[in-house]
Amino acid sequence: MAELLDGKLLSTKIKEDLKLKAAEFEAKYCRKITLAVILVGENPASCVYVKNKIKAAEFIGIKSLSFSLPENTEEKDVEDLINNLARDKSVDGILVQLPLPKHLDEEKILALIPPEKDVDGFTAENVGNATLFKDCVNSCTPAGIMYMLKSINVPLSGKHAVIIGRSNIVGKPIALMLLKENCTVTVCHSKTVDLKSITKQADILVVAMGKAKFVTSDMVKDGAIVIDVGINRTETGLCGDVDFETVKDKASYITPVPGGVGPMTIAMLMYNAYTCALRRENV
Ligand code: NAD
Repeated sequence: MAELLDGKLLSTKIKEDLKLKAAEFEAKYCRKITLAVILVGENPASCVYVKNKIKAAEFIGIKSLSFSLPENTEEKDVEDLINNLARDKSVDGILVQLPLPKHLDEEKILALIPPEKDVDGFTAENVGNATLFKDCVNSCTPAGIMYMLKSINVPLSGKHAVIIGRSNIVGKPIALMLLKENCTVTVCHSKTVDLKSITKQADILVVAMGKAKFVTSDMVKDGAIVIDVGINRTETGLCGDVDFETVKDKASYITPVPGGVGPMTIAMLMYNAYTCALRRENV
């Protein structure tokens, strides 16, 4: 029976620590850490994520500037807003909640965020530095996964890590982070042939595909560490990409959904806002 990797508990500890650090920052620099959050449209999942991010910021003592723009906002207006926030010396971080409505050019919009205010770590400069294993703002979800893995003190070096999914926000950056820790990394995706034969070799299995309960126990090696990134809304509520009930009996550690990777993503976002603020004060 697997041990639970409790992201809710771990993220609460991180946020409590950040609360102290944010208060120290405010006392030293006579200003609050400030995070601008931009939401375009009313995608229900995005609205929930933004609400949770603002709630976490409030708890820590980070000031959030919330911009909710209508679905039909023109590209130029989003660009103007980001350019203004980029120039605004009181703003430490800029977050654009994805996905954006289809008529907006995501790549062009994200490129307007200065790398030093890029709390999501999505800009080309931060992604490039991550690839070179250089200092950068790390993408939040993979950073949260690495934090969880390190919290259990299991050596990562030499482990075979298998990732299902090759998205820019999860699959690719977690592959790099695990590689940096000397794992042997295999990245699988929708065109992978005989997925099960690969996942069965995984000491660490990270699943980020967006398919409810897709990974079943026959796809998992005995004693594997299983990280479920998926968030799927079904008739019976939220579930991950892993069939938790059966896989938990085979894995050594497993993340629940909800309460696993999700809260860690938000905690890492808050950590990024704090480190961006420190760097902007030349610390
Ligand atoms: P995505 O939706 O951009 O891409 C899905 C990936 O899964 C693709 O690379 C695709 O090749 C792969 N895939 C799909 N079907 C497959 C199959 N049958 N076999 C092998 N690979 C397959 O991915 P994303 O944006 O990384 O999101 C993945 C999931 O993670 C979603 O459920 C999303 O909601 C969730 N997510 C959660 C968090 C969090 O904080 N917990 C953060 C980001 C994403």
